[in-house]
Amino acid sequence: MKKIIALALSAVMMLSMFTACSSEPTVDTNSKSADIVVIGAGGAGMSAAIQAVQNGATNVVIVEKTGMAGGNTTRSTGGLNASETTFQERDKIEDSNQLFIDDTMKGGKNINNPELVKYMAENSAEALYWVNDMGADLTVVGLFGGASVKRIHRPSDTSAVGPVLVKTLLSVVEKNNIPVLYNTKAEEIITDANGAVSGVKVTDAEGTYTINCKAVIIATGGFGANSEMVEKLNPNLKGFGTTNVAAATGDGITMGTAIGAATVDMEQIQTHPTVHPETQTMYTEAVRGNGAIIVNKEGARFTNEMGTRDVVSAAILEQTDGQAWLIFDEAVRKSLKAIEGYISAGIVFQSETIEGLAAEIGADPATLSATMAKFADDVKAGNADEFGRAGLELPLTEANFYACMVAPAIHHTMGGLKINTAAEVLNEEGNAIAGLFAAGEVTGGVHGANRLGGNAVTDIVVFGKAAGASACDYVAANGGHTEATIVVEKVEETVKPEVEANFKDGTYTAVGTGIGGDVEVIAEVKDGEIVSITLGQHGETEGIFEGAVDGVIPEIIKGQTTEVDTVSGATITSNAIIEAVEDIMDQAA
Ligand SMILES: Cc1cc2nc3c(=O)[nH]c(=O)nc-3n(C[C@H](O)[C@H](O)[C@H](O)COP(=O)(O)OP(=O)(O)OC[C@H]3O[C@@H](n4cnc5c(N)ncnc54)[C@H](O)[C@@H]3O)c2cc1C
Repeated sequence: MKKIIALALSAVMMLSMFTACSSEPTVDTNSKSADIVVIGAGGAGMSAAIQAVQNGATNVVIVEKTGMAGGNTTRSTGGLNASETTFQERDKIEDSNQLFIDDTMKGGKNINNPELVKYMAENSAEALYWVNDMGADLTVVGLFGGASVKRIHRPSDTSAVGPVLVKTLLSVVEKNNIPVLYNTKAEEIITDANGAVSGVKVTDAEGTYTINCKAVIIATGGFGANSEMVEKLNPNLKGFGTTNVAAATGDGITMGTAIGAATVDMEQIQTHPTVHPETQTMYTEAVRGNGAIIVNKEGARFTNEMGTRDVVSAAILEQTDGQAWLIFDEAVRKSLKAIEGYISAGIVFQSETIEGLAAEIGADPATLSATMAKFADDVKAGNADEFGRAGLELPLTEANFYACMVAPAIHHTMGGLKINTAAEVLNEEGNAIAGLFAAGEVTGGVHGANRLGGNAVTDIVVFGKAAGASACDYVAANGGHTEATIVVEKVEETVKPEVEANFKDGTYTAVGTGIGGDVEVIAEVKDGEIVSITLGQHGETEGIFEGAVDGVIPEIIKGQTTEVDTVSGATITSNAIIEAVEDIMDQAA
């Protein structure tokens, strides 16, 4: 029997052992079938697969054309918009589902599909709790452009939302033994004589074959990296850069329309206003949300930085060279971890004084100083400023001062396959195509003419869940769920020390302080090196501590050091392990 091993790049940990394992789905090409095939292992695809399994699906497979899960979702920086949440209540933020709907419709210039927007808003809090229950830790509430109140929920350590979300979803996918067939590109959706979905033709390193199935969930993301498609739909965007991953080529739209799916709002393509023109690094809107301003090359402000992306992008394009500077101070830097990444990437100018910064960036020192002084006065007065920006908190007076060159780039494709609130894909007549579901950026209608920051993450989780639930129901009603034939084989791989050490051989035990009290850590030293680290008794949260085990322990073993990064979303458990290993290293010195 021929077997194809699809390599999964992610390492998973079994139990609480240090030993890393890789998930290696094994495809028996003689059977090649599943009940549900999810195309794309981004945020929408993984949410859909997990929800389907949680609702009782037993034979779900994800095909992913690249070698790793995440897609554009990994790049998302801000957070997840949700209304009427306990975190908003904790922070005394007055929000409502209706206000969320109103903001989204206004931001989308009222061409959004109101039913989809209503469904997204009303299910946003539940989606947030769902990802948090799985370990995402999106508990800090902030303000993003186009939102009337603080609504974006972000990781508690202010890190970017995408990696946290992808890691969380992927760990649940793996825990549920949902096979992800990496480097496997969906080429075509097959239908039967009645037009119902019956399979997906895929290509991997071994060739092209069909996975027969009852339902398909298209979750292939947008087409922001397909310049040909972008330019055809909007010639004004010719030559623009993109913030998107190379895989965002609109494959799902091509495959869906080929079997009769309707599309909506295809020409609605969003540019992000603050992208570094040379490296295409996107400066998250949180930099502005936390207080940064934008000035032109002469050093003057020209817009409300918290306006919607289309408005801010257009305003920048009217300035000299179609570029501008994002300016902030030390207080903003301290408020946002993402800024450290931009600084270490070497794309931020800095100076101890505003005049010095002006000299660095070639702006007029007097103009920039006057701009900053006026801004500080407005903040101190507590009034909306001359551009209508309100709710300002930081006067931008704390040295050092920073500047980042920005210009708009292609960021989000609002249009895509037409769906209803059950995530069923509709044909030109408005009828559901039997067995075909879609979620995420591949769909259209949720964001209208302009997506608000934080709404895409909500979209992919809310409609990913809807697609998974609907596909599960569809399979139950059309032949029923069957046993999986594409299964995940867990292959243990021992993590080995990569540097020499000189500890005393033996088995040592120590404790660190975790979120649930003491975390017992047991380490074995052999030939002078720590070769295994295992968790003993602990009260850490299921679904979270595994992240710390996966992330921290292999790095300690490889480097024979506790100078390792903690894992976002599992920081306290990470520190508990590090604390205990430091004690063990002292014992074994
Ligand atoms: C730099 C950046 C920052 C962002 N920040 C935010 C933010 O702060 N807040 C917010 O709400 N939104 C943000 N977004 C938008 C948001 O991240 C995306 O809209 C969203 O993550 C899309 O999720 P998805 O699951 O639909 O697609 P993706 O996450 O892109 O996943 C699609 C997957 O499908 C795979 N695929 C594609 N074609 C095929 C095929 N033929 N066969 C098999 N697999 C295929 C891809 O490889 C990919 O893994 C940001 C986007 C970018 C680029």
